[in-house]
Amino acid sequence: MFNIVDVKYFFRIMSKRTKLATVNSTKKLCSSSQLKINSDEESVNTEPTGTVSKYFIAKVVEPKKKSNHKRKKSIEIKYENNDKNEDHNEKKGDEQEKWYPKNWELTLNFIREMRKNSTAPVDEMGCHKCSDTKATPPIFRYQSLIALMLSSQTKDQTNHAAMERLKAHGCTPTNIVSTSDEILGKLIYPVSFWKRKVQYIKKTSEILLKNYNGDIPDTIEGLCALPGVGPKMGNICMDIAWNKISGIGVDTHVHRICNRLQWVKKQAKSPEETRKQLESWLPKNIWSEINYLLVGFGQEICQPRGPKCEQCLNKKLCPFAKANNPT
Ligand code: SF4
Repeated sequence: MFNIVDVKYFFRIMSKRTKLATVNSTKKLCSSSQLKINSDEESVNTEPTGTVSKYFIAKVVEPKKKSNHKRKKSIEIKYENNDKNEDHNEKKGDEQEKWYPKNWELTLNFIREMRKNSTAPVDEMGCHKCSDTKATPPIFRYQSLIALMLSSQTKDQTNHAAMERLKAHGCTPTNIVSTSDEILGKLIYPVSFWKRKVQYIKKTSEILLKNYNGDIPDTIEGLCALPGVGPKMGNICMDIAWNKISGIGVDTHVHRICNRLQWVKKQAKSPEETRKQLESWLPKNIWSEINYLLVGFGQEICQPRGPKCEQCLNKKLCPFAKANNPT
């Protein structure tokens, strides 16, 4: 007779044997030729807490099927060669024609011919003739700057006379700063805007004493930073005071004549616009000469009102003359 303890023991033994048989049969199945176990360690997604048997995470890798699609032919892609393009553009830039006014050299030579005797007011009384040639170089430069500041919208004769009075008074930055506005006004009167110019020359003199040891700046930027000094004055000052060419001095004469002769690609509305256009094509070695040449020509022949076209050697070339005197 079996007691109840013996029966329980019998069933436990049987259960273990059954489980062992199941595991063995699984192993056999996995090692068969139809299945392949991916044993690559890196592809095993191991749980962080313990080891997981390969048998339970193995992938079934099916044999590759042969594709029916024909392999596409690779197409050669040709890219644009940027270097070649740059070369091409550079070449194009070089080949681009620079704009020049029609007959400009012939016209210029006729003006030189008309100006050869130097009989215009600017030749005797221009700003380049206003400084004391016996003064020290800094004082000479200072007087050149003051003459230019007084000259705007003022005739050369009037300006020159004012500078003569100032020099007799003592035209140095120290002396100008210590002179009263009233006396300074009387000395420079009747130059245009004399009251405003008194303020400009006093303020400028103070700055020159403080920042430039009584001399004047040697750059166009430095000059244009002074009160009452613009590009026209600055460029002429660089020329006559420092003997350096920084740009063309374009006043009302130069502005008017360049537009009449069409020395600008398109009609300019201001002297500053004319300066930019003129500097774009006029050879640099003529920049210094052009101001005096055209100012004198404007004072004597190509005047603002009633230009003397009949006396002008350019009457057959000048677009303004052709438009206004078609015969
Ligand atoms: S032809 Fe008349 S408008 Fe022309 S440049 Fe001579 S003076 Fe001036």
